[in-house]
Amino acid sequence: MAYDKELYQQVAIEYEEIRRHDRQDLEERRQKVFANVPELEEIENEIRGAGLKIIKLAATGTGDRTERVYALRDRQKALLVRRKALLLENGFAEDELSMRYLCDKCQDTGVYNDRDCDCFKRRLIIKAFEKSNLSLQLRDQSFKTIDMELYSKDVDENIGISPYDYMSNIVGICRKFVYDFDTDNTNLLFWGAPGLGKTFLSTCIAKELIKEGHSVIYETAYKIFSMLEDFKFKRTEDLEKLRGQTQKLYECDLLILDDLGTEFSTNYTNAALFDILNSRLIANKKTIINTNLSPEELAKKYSERVFSRIIGSYRALKFIGNDIRLLKSVNK
Ligand SMILES: [Zn+2]
Repeated sequence: MAYDKELYQQVAIEYEEIRRHDRQDLEERRQKVFANVPELEEIENEIRGAGLKIIKLAATGTGDRTERVYALRDRQKALLVRRKALLLENGFAEDELSMRYLCDKCQDTGVYNDRDCDCFKRRLIIKAFEKSNLSLQLRDQSFKTIDMELYSKDVDENIGISPYDYMSNIVGICRKFVYDFDTDNTNLLFWGAPGLGKTFLSTCIAKELIKEGHSVIYETAYKIFSMLEDFKFKRTEDLEKLRGQTQKLYECDLLILDDLGTEFSTNYTNAALFDILNSRLIANKKTIINTNLSPEELAKKYSERVFSRIIGSYRALKFIGNDIRLLKSVNK
């Protein structure tokens, strides 16, 4: 799975900026060093001059050029030794007159052995996270950081098993959702009282998929509805930007719609939202909906006919147990 072109280009531009900064940084250090130790500027010039002569000889020289190249190389070596000694004597670092890279492996080109360098891949992931709207705090969460001990192992009479087993099962379904993302058609509806881990688990899913190169957008229903309204009534300076943002709700590989049911909705926003959900279904793009309402309550709030068509392709998972946010703060 490859990241989309736009993301790739944005990171490539960041690398151009990094290299520009690298060069500027070196130039500033050079000026500072030369102002303090003028001899170092002469040495630098001579090293460069010898280098140019070597290149020229290789291209045009005849006869004794090998001897002359060796002589120039020896001279360069001696100059480098002198340069190092002078730098250290004057309290500078050994590499004060050399390029310093964020990544020594690819020298900030982003390419290593004809492939994307690891540093480039990391930046792609960071960029994809920024675009997903996932909060910084949540970006640290993953399936590995889920603390299942927060769920009771005592059998809950209402469900017949312990919340621990129940939630383990839900986590398993979420992991499978990630695993089968490209081949399965299931969407997920997480419902239940606040604080039971709906947003947390959808973030874990998002994180895994972003790492694999999928585009993910996380947005609250409230925000989506206000975006749609702004777009309709042109309540923005930058309509094109808003159009792009709205378009992404249709196009991203995974849309996480958080907190559905709490927003103030109108016939227009409802229709627009269901157009997004329906279009995603038709295009076989996955959606996760988080809501505090039960599927029945959702059906009541929105048009039953539209809703039932949508919900048929979602796997509804009820979240149960105690408010783990409260438990976490008590345990801290
Ligand atoms: Zn690199």
